[in-house]
Amino acid sequence: MAYARAHSPYYRDLYEQLPERVEDVALLPVTRKKDLMARFDDWVTDREVTIEKLRKFIEDPTRIGEKFLGKYVVATTAGTTGTPGIFVLDDRHKKMGMSALRQAFGKWLTFGDFMKVFGRGMRIAALHATGGHFVSVTTVTGMRRSSRIAARIIRDFSVHTPIPKLVAELNSFRPALIAGYATVVSMLAAEQEAGRLRINPVLLVVTAEGLPESEYDRIAKAFNAKVGNVWGSTELSGVAYSCEEGWLHVIEEWAMIEPVDAEYRPTPPGEQSHTVLVTNLANRVQPILRYDLGDRILQRHDPCPCGNPLPAIRVQGRAGEVLTFPSESGERVSIPPLAFEIDVPGLELVQVVQRAPTNIRVRLRLATGADLNGVWQGVQKELTGLLAEHKLSHVTVERAEEPPEQTAGGKYRTVIPLKTEEQR
Ligand SMILES: [Zn+2]
Repeated sequence: MAYARAHSPYYRDLYEQLPERVEDVALLPVTRKKDLMARFDDWVTDREVTIEKLRKFIEDPTRIGEKFLGKYVVATTAGTTGTPGIFVLDDRHKKMGMSALRQAFGKWLTFGDFMKVFGRGMRIAALHATGGHFVSVTTVTGMRRSSRIAARIIRDFSVHTPIPKLVAELNSFRPALIAGYATVVSMLAAEQEAGRLRINPVLLVVTAEGLPESEYDRIAKAFNAKVGNVWGSTELSGVAYSCEEGWLHVIEEWAMIEPVDAEYRPTPPGEQSHTVLVTNLANRVQPILRYDLGDRILQRHDPCPCGNPLPAIRVQGRAGEVLTFPSESGERVSIPPLAFEIDVPGLELVQVVQRAPTNIRVRLRLATGADLNGVWQGVQKELTGLLAEHKLSHVTVERAEEPPEQTAGGKYRTVIPLKTEEQR
């Protein structure tokens, strides 16, 4: 707080009325992405960092994995809360991520498991939405560039790849570790069960997208492997890791979390919160203090039976829903929600609604001053391309008149699947 106040004009103004020393965190006003993004250049604590320079940096795909101004990792988020975010992350933040990961691996894997990972060539498959400046992409690309060993053992796999192709690629890579979005990993589990995917990983690390508990067991069983679950966000990094009891433990040295109701009053442990306020205790270049993340969480009121004394939570936030279409030969083809988070200039938010098995309606929200026809052409091109890649060219795409709809919790779902029995 002292650092933010001293170096960020935004926080200097926000905290103007507060005493020099604040002992109660609840006295600090809540921050929101929308307000912070609107005053980006004042929000950051390094005057060299400006939104204009960052936008130029992001628009250049050859610079993925490169450090901004030689010192910061840049990450972008799609706007599930309605505002796209751009985040600059410093070395302290990176250190937090690595330390949290080390802690998590130490809990998930036994010595014998580590030996198995070595025995299987230490190969790591990172599944994510490539083509963007998602932090996972920039981090993995950066790692691969910085070390020859890393370049050999870590490989990126795009979630935009049609499942049969992804399966073939993974079969030939034979990863010992897989990290990716829960929905994609869960689709891969179905491939492994069907015998098309034949890999032997020791551990699958999935990001918490709110899959039902039974789904994690199914993934573990399909691969005969351990499943680790991570919760976090771009602004926060992965700061909570699952234990064998199915709870996520928050690494308090790096992040503070406050479950709250719609009026930002504390939600007592044992009750579902409306949202969660997060504070990143590592990153100084772009302070995240009592920031409304939008995830609904439940904090345990009693100690977790696993013995870990860190706060234990469950997250109900980003339900990872998958759109499933019938192919022309009658098979079911699934596409994860992330693949629909397309990048089109002038597009602020997209929401894909499945109205019939082979029809999707697209709700758009445009940036101020953007031209609807131009944006729609771009969106159509991206979506028909995506569908064609999955051999779903018979699926029709139409533009909806209505804007994207919000959930009761104020979030925007990227996809809204068709809810009928035969689709399940
Ligand atoms: Zn636990």
